[in-house]
Amino acid sequence: MKKTSLVEIKDLFIEYYTNKGILCGKTIIHAVNGVSLDIFKGEILAIAGESGCGKSTLAKAIIQLEPAKSGKILFEGKNTFILNKSELKDFRRHVQMVFQNPYASLNPKMKIFNILKEPLEINSDFSKEKIESTIKEKIRLVGLDESCLELFPHEFSGGQRQRIAIARALMLNPEFILADEPVSALDVSIQAQVINLLKELKEKYNLTIVLITHDMSVIKYLADRVVIMYLGEIVEAGNTNEIFKTPLHPYTKALLSSVPQINNQGKKIILKGDLPSPANLPAGCKFHTRCPYVMEKCKECVPEEKGISHRVKCFLYE
Ligand code: SF4
Repeated sequence: MKKTSLVEIKDLFIEYYTNKGILCGKTIIHAVNGVSLDIFKGEILAIAGESGCGKSTLAKAIIQLEPAKSGKILFEGKNTFILNKSELKDFRRHVQMVFQNPYASLNPKMKIFNILKEPLEINSDFSKEKIESTIKEKIRLVGLDESCLELFPHEFSGGQRQRIAIARALMLNPEFILADEPVSALDVSIQAQVINLLKELKEKYNLTIVLITHDMSVIKYLADRVVIMYLGEIVEAGNTNEIFKTPLHPYTKALLSSVPQINNQGKKIILKGDLPSPANLPAGCKFHTRCPYVMEKCKECVPEEKGISHRVKCFLYE
């Protein structure tokens, strides 16, 4: 069955400047470098990679929180970079975000009822009764009791707060949710509950979810497809089972080898050095400074991406 794209990212480049001080001037950070990607309706797509790989910047660009230098992002076929005011308001109703830290993402001075009411007051013309019934429906949906609506965020555990944050994201019946490290700030014992909740909601409402995470175990359990990023580029992408069973790119192999529950061969691949600065990208294959299989041509030439359903960018597969 042909999948329908909800989001189409075309040759996206994102740069930003950091001020390194009066004497050094400004430095350009090349955060996203030529990313093209389709996100299909109803899938959970995970974007993974080390901190600094560009995954969060890419995700924020999708929901219009990060401007691009060039390229396009289409949402349901519409270029999100040229939306007018009313189209932008409509777009914001369709896309919502669940943040990493449920401790910081809920206003500590507001009762839960008011936190959940806010998006409806701003973005809908619902009556008072309809607002109240929607709030009760969503709080039950995330497994909490209506009695919690009169409490403040500090009266809940981390897992409960993340459930409230998910309820808030669902208030406007979005089609698309960006979940940025949604369980990494939670106790391990609670992580599974929140992961299961996201999975249930995705199935029940045919939600499209982009999951940003460095946790390969979460990806294995939750994601339909996975994209591996390195220095702002996609180096491998495909069906989650396929990538976990047969990783091709040396960087993906190293990432998976570091997770004991996933690593079948039991041999951990230790990469040389640290991630190079995105302000000073290496020539050729950007992974060549750390790759255990590096060849001479990798230092000068950029490998082309191969494959359609399972994409990989490495000279070993030419
Ligand atoms: Fe390693 Fe070369 Fe492949 Fe890059 S192109 S990942 S350096 S083998």
